[in-house]
Order: sequence, then C-alpha cells, then structure tokens
Amino acid sequence: MSKVTVSNACNGCEICVSTCPVEVFEMQDEVAVPVNEKDCITCFLCVDECPENAITVEED
Ligand code: SF4
Ligand code: SF4
Repeated sequence: MSKVTVSNACNGCEICVSTCPVEVFEMQDEVAVPVNEKDCITCFLCVDECPENAITVEED
C-alpha cells in the first residue's frame, strides 16, 4: 500500500482531484485530503501535476 500525504503548501487548485485515476483525493475545507489512500496505484501523476509540490507518495 502507498502512503499519500498533502502538505500545507496545498493551494486548493483541485488538480489532483481530477488527475488521480482512482479518486484518492477529496476537497475538504479547500485543501486536498487523501481519503482513499488504499486505492493508490503509485502512478505519481498527482506528484507530477501538483503546482505547489504539495503531494508526497511513498511506496511501502
Ligand atoms: S494539486 Fe496540489 S495544490 Fe492542487 S489541490 Fe492538489 S495538493 Fe493542493
Ligand atoms: S500516485 Fe496516482 S493513484 Fe496515487 S494518489 Fe497520486 S494520482 Fe492517485
């Protein structure tokens, strides 16, 4: 399983919500929260697309 974290650099752009193919992220109070971390397929698309480099994905 992957560990997905969003730092407080998140600007609320929602790009990760639309980019993630397995809907890991949900917006809560205008920041992205990795609510379905267990579904992550470790594709790193969110890491590549986030304009603030706020997302970290680590393989266990
Ligand atoms: S892409 Fe980055 S800055 Fe945009 S909502 Fe997701 S974590 Fe936040
Ligand atoms: S690495 Fe891929 S599957 Fe995992 S949260 Fe990011 S976009 Fe979604």
